[in-house]
Amino acid sequence: MTTAGARVFRLDRGTRALLMSVPHLGTEIVADVAARLRPHAVTSPDTDFHLDRLYDFAPALGMSRLLAHYSRYVIDLNRPPDDRNLYPGADTTGLVPVDTFAGEPLYRDAPPDAAEVAARRDAYWQPYHAALQEELARLRAAFGTVVLFDCHSIRSHVPRFFEGRLPEFNLGTANGASCDPALRAALRSALTCDGFTLAVDGRFKGGYITRQYGAPGEGVHAFQLELSQVTYMREDASNAFDETLAARVRPPLQRMLEAALQWVEAQ
Ligand SMILES: [Zn+2]
Repeated sequence: MTTAGARVFRLDRGTRALLMSVPHLGTEIVADVAARLRPHAVTSPDTDFHLDRLYDFAPALGMSRLLAHYSRYVIDLNRPPDDRNLYPGADTTGLVPVDTFAGEPLYRDAPPDAAEVAARRDAYWQPYHAALQEELARLRAAFGTVVLFDCHSIRSHVPRFFEGRLPEFNLGTANGASCDPALRAALRSALTCDGFTLAVDGRFKGGYITRQYGAPGEGVHAFQLELSQVTYMREDASNAFDETLAARVRPPLQRMLEAALQWVEAQ
């Protein structure tokens, strides 16, 4: 298998106590994997599209950003390395997915075997998580307390995972376990505005990254926002960014991150 090297992620180090992780941003699929995928999968339709462009204000706020380069079809960076189900009893896609959110098989022939899953974990999953851990450690050493924002988006209708139309904002804090209650309240308040709908620890409670690294007792406060893609892009085959829609949703997103910065800098 082709090795990924330094292209697994891009890390922009900031100057404040907030790290933004975007594990499903990547669309690239290494050639030897792409060659085995069915045609519909090569465009990686389940990507969290355009989140770097949507959150274009993040660098100016001084936060660090960790951006994934490869598609979740290569490996899902927001799944546990042992691939246990984060939502027991509910349908999910795995560490190395074998089907799309729509339930279509990804591979023309046999999906990856255990040895290939392990090789992808070493080549792609480990470097991203090593970088995430190192940046959290750097920020903790500098500031004492740090906020980790795991940034996601998903189509507004995915019948496999939830009924009906998803609320626009889905804040996840592992039912309150991954961050301080005051931070959770500040985030909720920042997102309650402008006519957008909000769920807190509803269908999306935070994935592996939120749950694994959120450790309030150790000074790491994590939350996830699963944003409905209908708020900023076209939910058709074009997956096109919509600047008019994005201009409406950026203000509450920026308020959310400013609230997180304000909270962490008061600790
Ligand atoms: Zn995601």
